[in-house]
Amino acid sequence: MKKSIERIYSPTPPHFVGDGFRVHNFIPSGYLMDMKRMSPFVMLDYNSKFYFPPTDKPRGVGVHPHRGFETVTIAYKGKVAHHDSGGNTGVIGEGDVQWMTAASGVLHKEYHEENWSREGGEFQMVQLWINLPAKYKMSKPQYQEIQSKEINEVVLPYDSGKVKIIAGDYNGIKGNASTFSPVNLFNAYLNKNGNATFNFPKEFNTVVLVIEGGIKVNDTEEISTDHLGLFENVGEEFTLTALEDSIVLVLSGEPINEAIASHGPFVMNTREELLQAFEDFNNGKFGILED
Ligand code: MN
Repeated sequence: MKKSIERIYSPTPPHFVGDGFRVHNFIPSGYLMDMKRMSPFVMLDYNSKFYFPPTDKPRGVGVHPHRGFETVTIAYKGKVAHHDSGGNTGVIGEGDVQWMTAASGVLHKEYHEENWSREGGEFQMVQLWINLPAKYKMSKPQYQEIQSKEINEVVLPYDSGKVKIIAGDYNGIKGNASTFSPVNLFNAYLNKNGNATFNFPKEFNTVVLVIEGGIKVNDTEEISTDHLGLFENVGEEFTLTALEDSIVLVLSGEPINEAIASHGPFVMNTREELLQAFEDFNNGKFGILED
């Protein structure tokens, strides 16, 4: 049975995160897209294409903590450098993905990469927070850097383009990112008039974000650049057809049916755990990271 679009969202008015990320928040600000409705995706910030002028002092976000979930950064344009209290560092650029499992707690900072900053340029990125099931919230932090060239892909028939599988499974091809609950995360690169069909269980919460170009869903609903389509939790299959050369981020995950207590950089199950997170952070239990 077909899965249909429930609602199409225009980008929310942008705000700055630190001085390096100019984002539209879709989750949880979007009507019907709160943390419960979109579980396991509890946050989605989208830095639509934005020009940052050259600077010697890289822009970004300084040291801050996270606990209880994973942060996933997908780069489309520009370069971001990451450092965390687990000793992980890395730079991601076009097509690369950084997957940080904060779990029991890390400090990290995210800045535009130094050389890129000196040149300046167009910057475009998605940051996603993926919730962890209660039993993994206090597990050991992890860090996965996934280079574009390592991302498995399925080439679509009839010169339609390709689907790059960051996590989950598309037509039997699996993504490299390891996840703690069933999550599908793909970038579909569709040529004009090309199409791709997707199939997810009906209870999985599913959205598509048009990064470049424009698409038609099931030959009925049009979604243009920087807009997001939320699917009904009815039916399994849908088809995206590109109206021009397009890049589409496809997200679909099994909801984690557990209580959510969240505040700022922490996403836990109870208010007590949230208070504990603040206390542990204030007592230096998230480690050390220099600003
Ligand atoms: Mn962060």
